Amino acid sequence: MEETPANSLLAIYPGSFDPLTNGHLDLIARGSRLVDRLIIGILSNSEKRPLFPVPERIAMVSESVSQFPNVLVEAFDGLLVIFAAQHNARVILRGIRAISDYEIELQMALMNRRLRPQTETLFLMASEEYSFISSRMIKDIFTLGGDVSAFVPGPVLQRLTSRSVENR
Ligand code: ADP
Repeated sequence: MEETPANSLLAIYPGSFDPLTNGHLDLIARGSRLVDRLIIGILSNSEKRPLFPVPERIAMVSESVSQFPNVLVEAFDGLLVIFAAQHNARVILRGIRAISDYEIELQMALMNRRLRPQTETLFLMASEEYSFISSRMIKDIFTLGGDVSAFVPGPVLQRLTSRSVENR
């Protein structure tokens, strides 16, 4: 792990990213402009039956964010505030798409603030054109044979396509 100067603003954007969507990517682009360094934290213990194993998710996210020089990708498991403390992160970045996101995000942000007051959760509103996209829906549409090409970055689409070819 590279040293981060004590006064630089480091944010963590945590999530399952199973798979990364254009909505996530939009948030990453906008978030990365606000901080010195943004670490995308891929949660490795969140789902029992993920669509993509963590190493593949790391590869897809890394390829998709290669144009952002201050964005790094790492997997983590366990408590987010411990991961944040390890990196001395002052910000947790999250996205809000709808009221339904707000309720759960508020609860998580308040709990995380209790556990680690040094880290603030920063919310960005989803862009209108991506606010209806979720990893869950992408998984469902893909599994049922639908076209998800408008909703995911190229490196994700490539892997999805090679999967459907393998399964034919
Ligand atoms: P989780 O694993 O916590 O359910 P995801 O990996 O789906 O979350 O997403 C991580 C974060 O990105 C969450 O804060 C979520 O609200 C946000 N997010 C997901 N999809 C979008 C989108 N289309 N636009 C903006 N933010 C999004």
